[in-house]
Amino acid sequence: MTIEEERAEQLATLGEEIRNLTDSPLYEFRSLNHYQPVIGEGRPTAAVMFIGEAPGEAEAKTGRPFVGPAGRQLDSFLADAGLKREDIYITNVVKDRPPDNRDPRVKEVRLYAPFLWRQIGIIQPRVIVPLGRHALDFVRRHFEGFPAEGSVSTLHGTAYPVDAPYGRAFVMPLYHPAVVFYREDLKPDMETDFRLLGELLANGQPADSSA
Ligand code: URA
Repeated sequence: MTIEEERAEQLATLGEEIRNLTDSPLYEFRSLNHYQPVIGEGRPTAAVMFIGEAPGEAEAKTGRPFVGPAGRQLDSFLADAGLKREDIYITNVVKDRPPDNRDPRVKEVRLYAPFLWRQIGIIQPRVIVPLGRHALDFVRRHFEGFPAEGSVSTLHGTAYPVDAPYGRAFVMPLYHPAVVFYREDLKPDMETDFRLLGELLANGQPADSSA
């Protein structure tokens, strides 16, 4: 079995566990609406892993991450970085859709976070990209070496070296792509960030000297 196949198998097992999470506070909403959990998608050996917040309606209907309006925006930013969906792995902190697109609750984040941590351990990405505040909180709680202070607006676009369980990695926080829907003025900064990410992946080193 290749490493790719081995990891795909481990991810499939994890997916089954999430599908069977009947004690999740979001399980009833999932089953009443015939929604699916959104486990994650992409290459099991990807060098870069994107982490969003939680599935929206389009995602819960299809079981695929970032396929609605935010996903279309993400695809356009990925093109700025010279990346395609097939090159990356993409998932969320919370794997089931919260009602009315509300923020995930602490209890929900606590329930799903260990699955995300396992996904990171399976995929072993060299660069981890939290998109927005909730994913930023996750990396701050899990990675030694990541700044204890600062928000997305102060940390975005810089690659921070961290100690991952499988070795050295970078965490590069970015704005959530949906931010352009209410802060169009931030779009040029977001495009620059994605280009910096593309350079980091191409060169193996951060384009920013702060890391
Ligand atoms: N927003 C997210 O954070 N994740 C998705 O999968 C879709 C929209």
